[in-house]
Amino acid sequence: MQSLTILGATGSIGVSTLDVVARHPDRYRIFALTGQTRIDVLAEQCAQFQPEVAVVVDADAAERLQKLIRDRGLKTNVVYGEQALCDVASADACDTVMAAIVGAAGLGPSLAAAKAGKKLLLANKEALVISGQLFMDAVAASGSTLLPIDSEHNAIFQCLPIGYQRVPPQHGIRKILLTASGGPFLDRELSSFDSITPEQAVAHPNWSMGRKISVDSATMMNKGLEVIEAHWLFGASASQIEVVIHPQSVIHSMVAYADGSVLAQLGNPDMRTPIAHALAYPERIDSGVDAIDLARIAQLDFREPDRVRFPCLQLAFDVLHAGGSAPAVLNAANEVAVQAFLDKQIGFTRISSLIAETLSRVPAASVDTLESLLAQDSKARDQARALLQ
Ligand code: NDP
Ligand code: MG
Repeated sequence: MQSLTILGATGSIGVSTLDVVARHPDRYRIFALTGQTRIDVLAEQCAQFQPEVAVVVDADAAERLQKLIRDRGLKTNVVYGEQALCDVASADACDTVMAAIVGAAGLGPSLAAAKAGKKLLLANKEALVISGQLFMDAVAASGSTLLPIDSEHNAIFQCLPIGYQRVPPQHGIRKILLTASGGPFLDRELSSFDSITPEQAVAHPNWSMGRKISVDSATMMNKGLEVIEAHWLFGASASQIEVVIHPQSVIHSMVAYADGSVLAQLGNPDMRTPIAHALAYPERIDSGVDAIDLARIAQLDFREPDRVRFPCLQLAFDVLHAGGSAPAVLNAANEVAVQAFLDKQIGFTRISSLIAETLSRVPAASVDTLESLLAQDSKARDQARALLQ
């Protein structure tokens, strides 16, 4: 029986994870669930899965949740705060952690799970973008098993030889082919980008996801973050990672080998597949996702990404080359810009220019401690917010 902590249980990935877990009560039990604002959802989840602990971010939310828990006659212990999130991610009573908090807020708890040697299912790509080397060092030092949840990285993981899920040249790996749907604006008239609304940006053609990652997909910053994520997860250099637009989102990514072979992982665009893969790895379990119907899909298209249309993708390659704190600065500026766009403070095209300006004002520094990285993160947020004025 695996005992699970789900960080970000109330979000899109959290809900999909619980859907898979509910199909296998003989294999998984829930130790802890966490949420921030969707307290009613968290209370319902506690009623269904009976975790030992539920964590929220602030005292107000804890009080509200406590009342709902009491009304339902549940025994779940309610706690709150950043330290409590780290505690449930590293507790002896849990062996597997799903890291699915969105953004930099997930870094502390994700890292706590890595340091504690947990089996770590990583959806929170921003944690790796910010702290890449530190994060991978923590995983190596503790012997944590790190399994990617991001569908592309999970696909790459599946296409690499078992036991060799890194990309040094001696394994005969030529390239990682990271597929991208291109999001909702792949073919939209470029001159109309200024009138894009948040509602249009979060309406992804293939995937149902949280609001932040949906906007990231529309700007293609999501693919940029994923390039950096692939770099750290698989030890691939920037030149070994190629982004390919594939609008149907059926091939989730590929690995090209020296002999000309290209291995791909295919499936319906449903996050329960990579979640089930990582939960049961190296076994396979039912995820609730149907097999793909290739005759119905009929056609798979591919094209090169347009870096004029999607400047965020180029910015991500730039910070990967710059190294040090540059990816953390990019991530922080992006989080500020996306929130400002969702709040209708700025237009769609301002997202990329705001990030570029922040990057030019907060030069890349070398960083070797978490504290220095977090200092760069907050410097970048201040700078990006100042640019909003
Ligand atoms: P959602 O916005 O749907 O969920 C985010 C979760 O994090 C919620 O449980 C939310 O709580 C919680 N949360 C938000 N802010 C904080 C905070 N400051 N402190 C603590 N908890 C917080 O996001 P997704 O599920 O879409 O994405 C989660 C992560 O997974 C992201 O890093 C994303 O990039 C990655 N990912 C997502 C995919 C998807 O298909 N959705 C695919 C690949 C990767 P509440 O809702 O209660 O406020
Ligand atoms: Mg992805």
